[in-house]
This record gives sequence, structure tokens and C-alpha cells, in this order.
Amino acid sequence: MLNFTKFERINPEKRDVLLRLKDFNEVYKVFGTQRAEEQADRCMQCGDPYCHTGCPLGNFIPAWLKQTATKNPDLAFALSNETSPFPEILGRICPQDVLCEGACSLNTGHGAISIGAIETHISEEAFARGMKPKFSEHKKDQKIAVIGSGPSGISAATFLLRKGYNVEMFERADRAGGLLMYGIPGFKLDKTTVDRRINWLLEAGMTLHLNCEIGKDRDIKELESEFDAIYLGIGATAGRFAGIEGEKDASNVHLAMELLTGIQKRNLGKNVDFIDVKDKNVVVIGGGDTAMDCVRTSVREKAKSVKCLYRRDEANMPGSKKEVVNAKEEGVEYVFNVSPKSIVVENGIATGIELLTTSMSEPDESGRQKVVINEGSEYIEDADIIIMALGFSPEVPTFLKDLNVDTNSWGGIETSNYKTSNKKVYAGGDCQRGAHLAVTAAVDGREAARTIIKNFS
Ligand code: SF4
Repeated sequence: MLNFTKFERINPEKRDVLLRLKDFNEVYKVFGTQRAEEQADRCMQCGDPYCHTGCPLGNFIPAWLKQTATKNPDLAFALSNETSPFPEILGRICPQDVLCEGACSLNTGHGAISIGAIETHISEEAFARGMKPKFSEHKKDQKIAVIGSGPSGISAATFLLRKGYNVEMFERADRAGGLLMYGIPGFKLDKTTVDRRINWLLEAGMTLHLNCEIGKDRDIKELESEFDAIYLGIGATAGRFAGIEGEKDASNVHLAMELLTGIQKRNLGKNVDFIDVKDKNVVVIGGGDTAMDCVRTSVREKAKSVKCLYRRDEANMPGSKKEVVNAKEEGVEYVFNVSPKSIVVENGIATGIELLTTSMSEPDESGRQKVVINEGSEYIEDADIIIMALGFSPEVPTFLKDLNVDTNSWGGIETSNYKTSNKKVYAGGDCQRGAHLAVTAAVDGREAARTIIKNFS
């Protein structure tokens, strides 16, 4: 260990830009064993490891780095899977630069440990040798319904099954995985990795109901009487418009998920309508990871031009920096410091977007800079297709009322330690905390499962 001067930080290798633009296959290659061992060997084994604190799951990062560096891959696998429901997925999709790697003590000088890439390697290498996650063989009596099969639902199901509880999962879509299946593009997360985790839950005894919308295909009151507990991991799936004139009047202004889900379904071989951006000038409004997914999807779909419009400057972009770099490499153009004012609509079709330029204020006491609109700076950016990637709000299903589950002013489910106002019902992830990261949804699923189990004992 401590070999951070002998080995410099290395990022996982990326596929050549010209090749990766031709398909939706993953961009990053998984570390080989020697590379993973060397990179793990850089770790300083800090007594009070900041990386562990920077990881929302509180993963035992130095412990599994040490086991990797000292050639104990089985123990590294066990430790890595102990706190995380799907480490090989989060190693691929977490914005490590603002989480574990951002907090790594080496980040300020020698380069952070490549934690995400090593995490992915540990599980992928173990799976290739036939290892699997472990679940309890001793079944308990209680049955838990998990509604929603996204990251928080999968996490809750994983930690309940590990303790031997019976789990039935209900998903309104035709495939399990939620955001992991239909939200995040394949170039960041191959869908076989999601299916693999779901299949292990099924092997562990979980029952999965697809195409099953609660309140329509199954009665919630029936579930309430049939199950000992219900976990709501229904996400925040309602996309947000900008609230500007003309945005609802044009047939070519879309929400981000319409673009991403349609193309992902087509890529999975489904005969569906999708937004065809080929040879079009695409403008995406927003600066987060979903906006990056939209622009990078559009370049792969052979759009004529792809622009990302963001109201702050590059330093204040909220998403992962590596995704911004990847998008630039793939030919996306950024227009910073612009705020949308209205959509220019002709005969029901948007032909452009009226923008105002912005400036950043001086930082306030907390260091935050405000956006200042430059009055009179209007100009028009031409566009054939406009995509709004401005975040998500919870959909509030009517069955929450039937369950007497309280929601708050923005539609989030009210909880105290994941318990809702109905003592049989628990909630976590985006439907409870607001739209956030897959890793925080995984934390909620794990912690809610622990609360459910505690309440049984
Ligand atoms: Fe880092 Fe995410 Fe893995 Fe935690 S789960 S160690 S934040 S990549």
C-alpha cells in the first residue's frame, strides 16, 4: 500500500470516440486485474478515511482496496457487496468526482484513487469466476411488497432477501430496473448488468410482477392486507418544463425522459415510437447528468448539431465533470450563461428558443454564486428539436390516499426514519427525498429495509 508515488492515478480506458459514436455500448472498459491491484495499492489506508464519508453508502473502501492490492479478491468482493446492493453498477454510474474520489485524501495532489473503476472490477472479476452475491437460505414468515423496481426498490429487496424475508416486487413497466433500465443510457450502463442483479433476486426467491400498476392492475388495499409491510420506491418520474411561453404549444419540445426512454426501448428491440433526432439541430436545456445523457444520446443518433444550454457557467454545472468531458469529446457544443425566455413557435412547430444571457454574481458567504439575468440581451438559438432536462418531481399516485400516506407540499412522501403515516408502509428514494442520485436511492432502500426488519423484531 501507499504506492501513490510509484503508480500514478489511471482512469479506466475509454473506447475511441469514433467507435463509441457508432453504438450505445459502454464507453469505459473494466480494469484488468493487474491494473486494479496497482491502482488499489496507491491507497494510503487513512485512519479516518474521507472516501468512506464521501460515499453515501459508507462503503468500506480502504478495506476492499487493501484486499484487492494484496490479492484477496474473494474478500474484496464480500466487503464491497456488504454495504452496497449493486457495487458494479454504482462503480459505473456514480459521479465519483463529487463523492468518494472527490473526498479521497490524494485528490488534492497525487490524484484520487480510481475507486469507482476498482469497485466495478472487483465484482466483475468475481462474477467472471462464478461468484454470486449471498442471500439467506432460512426463510422468515413475513412478506414485504416492494413497489417500484428502480435503485431504491432493488436495494430494499436485496437487503430484505439477505435476511430471509419474502419479497414481491411490483413494476408498472415491462422490464425491471426503473431508471437503471430506461433512464440511464447503455453507453454508461449496459442493461445486462441490471438484468443480472434482478435475476439474482429472483434466484433468491423474489417474485416479480411486471406490467403491474398498483391502483390499476392490483388493488392497494389487497396488498395492504396481504403483506406485512409495503416499501414504496416509486421514484420521481415527472419531468419538469422550464415554465416559459410556447413550450407546450409545439410538438417538437420534449421532456428528457421521452427521448431517453424511447431510444433505450428501441435499443432493447422494442417496436416503439421514439424521438428521431437524425439530421436535426438539437438543443438540450439543463446542465445536470440527465442533460448529458440527452446530448450524448443525440450525437449517437446522428443529430446534425447538438447544443447544451445552461444558465450558469461551466464551473457551476451540477453534474459529473467526467460526463461533461465525454460529451465534449463526442462533439457536443456548450452554451453557458444563457436562460430560456420563450419558445419560438410557427404553426405548432418550435423553430428556436429565445434566450437571455446571464452573469454570475460574486460568491455569497456560503460561496454560492447567483445567476443574474442580463436585461435586454435576448437572442434566438435555432432548433429543430428542444429537450427539457430540468429535473424531476414525484408523481403522486392516487393509491397513496387510499393508504392514508401523507405527502408534503412538493408531492414527496412524508417519512420519519422511512416510516410513513401508515405504520405498515415505508418509503425511500426520489419519491421521499426528491430527485437525486442512484446511490442515494440505494442508501434509502438499504436503510428502509433495516427499519422494516427492526419493526418486525
Ligand atoms: Fe464511490 Fe459510488 Fe462506489 Fe460509493 S457507491 S464508493 S460513492 S462509486
